[in-house]
Amino acid sequence: MKIVVIGAGISGLALGYRLTERAARQGTPLDLTVLEAESRVGGTMGSIETNDGFIIETGPNGVLDNKPDTLALAQDLGISNRLVSGSDSANRRWIVLNGRLEALPNGPGAFLRSRLLSPWAKLRIAMEMWLPRRSAATDESVADFARRRLGPRALERLIDPFVSGIFAGDPERLSVRSAFPRLTELEEQYGSLLRASRALARARRALPAPAGTATNGAPSAGPGDKLWSFEGGMRELPMALEAALGSAVRTGERVIDLRRAHDGWVVATDTGLRLSGVDAVVLTIPAFAAARLLAPLSEGLSKPLEAIEYAPVSVVALGFRRQSVIHPLDGFGFLVPSREKRPILGCLIDSSVYPGRAPDGHVLLRCMVGGSRRPEVALLPDDELVDLAMRELEPHFGFEGRPVTSAVIRWRNAIPQYTLGHRDRVDQVAEESRAWPGLWVAGNALRGVAVNDCTREANRLAESLLPERP
Ligand SMILES: Cc1cc2nc3c(=O)[nH]c(=O)nc-3n(C[C@H](O)[C@H](O)[C@H](O)COP(=O)(O)OP(=O)(O)OC[C@H]3O[C@@H](n4cnc5c(N)ncnc54)[C@H](O)[C@@H]3O)c2cc1C
Repeated sequence: MKIVVIGAGISGLALGYRLTERAARQGTPLDLTVLEAESRVGGTMGSIETNDGFIIETGPNGVLDNKPDTLALAQDLGISNRLVSGSDSANRRWIVLNGRLEALPNGPGAFLRSRLLSPWAKLRIAMEMWLPRRSAATDESVADFARRRLGPRALERLIDPFVSGIFAGDPERLSVRSAFPRLTELEEQYGSLLRASRALARARRALPAPAGTATNGAPSAGPGDKLWSFEGGMRELPMALEAALGSAVRTGERVIDLRRAHDGWVVATDTGLRLSGVDAVVLTIPAFAAARLLAPLSEGLSKPLEAIEYAPVSVVALGFRRQSVIHPLDGFGFLVPSREKRPILGCLIDSSVYPGRAPDGHVLLRCMVGGSRRPEVALLPDDELVDLAMRELEPHFGFEGRPVTSAVIRWRNAIPQYTLGHRDRVDQVAEESRAWPGLWVAGNALRGVAVNDCTREANRLAESLLPERP
């Protein structure tokens, strides 16, 4: 098997690793190449270590253990001893309400006391239990789903900021069944989200406590939803994958041409590299980049990919001396609902979540700016972004002095938006690629944007490409 994976983000690297592993187990000779346009692997997943000892995540700051694939990958790579779990204070989160931080309730008692919602809005959420299931099979926006099941205030103050936190997107435009398939599944299965969460909590309590967290920090990949990262930041995962794949990974190779010849696929890059006689090509690059490569082959493939929009996000990291910030910073961070009309999506207090993100006596904040709500703001010059983040955070955290370090990480195309009609586009891509044997389209643009979705998809694809022999 000669396989070329295009793109060495977490999707492409995890796929490459799983393919190598399966081929070795099956005794299948595998000639694998993973081609990456940039000089470093990892895509949006990366960590910058500053000279003064801050570790700044360029993208994701962790993975939850409610899905097993990423932690299992760390285990198989032999780096689970490098895992660090999010501190308990990571459970404390805030939402901005009328310009002030309000704690996000984390239990029924706190929910009843919370000022985030009026008594009527709380009652409206409680009524969700008795609402009928939706019968129409058509696509529904996240906003319509939330309004229908939980009421308009819950959409405004809980669901909208949650959507910003994951997709940096607009709930009125995102498709609930593509962006949050679990919600529609729960409605279908249990008839109500509240009934579902009660049933799932009961089932969870009935299970034995997850083992493995006490000894070497290696978590079980079982139930629970703790957040995990690595001592040196999330970059450790792509770096370990790159090391395991060795010379199969080739950075600085942007694929510019893909065509089908009589003896297989031909892949060409901007350095003049040409790989021919390729049995399978997997694209794990952003949808618009895949659309460009596939346009000369098939409009049926390129059009639906081209239609997948992206939201820009800039990550503004600010490192302060501890005493320069008045707030105790005893939480994960906050999210900003659209109705607040602020240019930022929220802020993560990374140094309160994981050890070692800031040197002793310092703290690290990461402010997310832009998103589909205010795309133009994400593209402001660096110094303006730092000033903007300072201005936006100051009323909540209280600063006495300037940051000792700052960095801006700009993602013009940060996160794909699963807007209404997304599932049809994904189905069309799958259907059309059947006409092109050996061609696979994957990556975070299609079936989930979380790191856990990318690693799960990598497992699924590796199985399809190298199925277990009877
Ligand atoms: C700011 C931010 C915060 C996030 N936070 C979280 C979080 O906390 N938890 C979580 O689970 N997820 C989070 N995510 C989402 C998650 O990080 C991504 O969905 C995931 O990392 C995407 O991986 P990927 O490999 O599919 O794509 P990418 O990371 O985009 O990788 C694609 C790769 O393809 C390469 N490429 C592009 N064109 C070509 C070409 N022509 N030839 C060769 N190579 C090419 C690119 O250089 C890139 O390396 C976050 C994302 C962002 C941007």
